[in-house]
Amino acid sequence: AAKAAGRNTWRFYDEAMNRRASQRLALETDLRRAVARGQLMLVYQPQVHAADGRLAGVEALLRWQHPERGTVSPLDFIPIAEEVGIIAELGEWALAEAARQMVDWRRRGIAVPRVAVNLSARQFHDAGLAGRIEAILAEAGAPAEWIELEITESAAMQHPADAAEALQHLRRQGLQIAMDDFGTGHSSLATLCKLPLNVLKLDRSFVHRLPEAETEAAVAEAVVTLARRLGLSVVAEGVETEAQRRFLADIGCDVLQGFLFARPLTAAALEAWLATPIR
Ligand code: C2E
Ligand code: MG
Ligand code: MG
Ligand code: MG
Repeated sequence: AAKAAGRNTWRFYDEAMNRRASQRLALETDLRRAVARGQLMLVYQPQVHAADGRLAGVEALLRWQHPERGTVSPLDFIPIAEEVGIIAELGEWALAEAARQMVDWRRRGIAVPRVAVNLSARQFHDAGLAGRIEAILAEAGAPAEWIELEITESAAMQHPADAAEALQHLRRQGLQIAMDDFGTGHSSLATLCKLPLNVLKLDRSFVHRLPEAETEAAVAEAVVTLARRLGLSVVAEGVETEAQRRFLADIGCDVLQGFLFARPLTAAALEAWLATPIR
């Protein structure tokens, strides 16, 4: 009986594993077609000046509208896209879409100063990255000054030499470069200094327990000081409370982003948010 139960248990695991593997395969297959089928979209989260609440820019964030699963989070599909080698296609779609949206907003007199677009570490594998980014912006008719690229520490650290070269090239074109999720990666400060950055984005994990948590408060202050000395501006991510806003403004954060101001919004919802006088 024990033997039979054991066998059944194994069968159970086998089936569960098979099911998971085939679900994953189905998701991969669907994801490969998502761009062509127009299932990807961008939402835009406002970034505001800490000093006066004016709009500094927006961050473009990918969403996948799956016909059966509904909206799939980038946390679930970006890693798959990286593994199956289609992240460049997704990333380039996102850049092109954000650039087109900026052109549309400007044409209609909607003043969004800049859009930040996330780049995956894998996109740095491609030696032609900088050239293709330029071509995408030219095609959309969007000046480089409208665009900020967000890279993660791990992206920059996996290929520091390639990343530095591509980023130098992009900076010369006029794009802004932000280090995303700063403080969570495994960077050395030496590598950080070699990258041509404009912005450090203080990770949400350091903002979450502010202002009470002393360690996080110390890290936040140190990041602002470091950024100042390097001539960079600081964007704090994940600002959810008024007390966090006040603390971050007091220590000299330049720009704030988080649910306190707005969640990521569709382009139309962002326009409505901008038209609301009091916030
Ligand atoms: P990220 O670039 O660090 O983006 C910020 C994430 O924090 C977003 O999650 C945003 O919705 C969330 N967030 C913003 N404010 C708050 C807040 O006050 N509280 C909390 N709890 N969360 C907040 P989202 O949209 O789910 O994106 C997750 C990650 O997926 C992004 O993190 C980024 O790493 C990746 N991602 C999104 N779009 C793209 C893309 O186009 N390309 C690439 N390579 N990655 C992307
Ligand atoms: Mg980001
Ligand atoms: Mg971030
Ligand atoms: Mg983050």
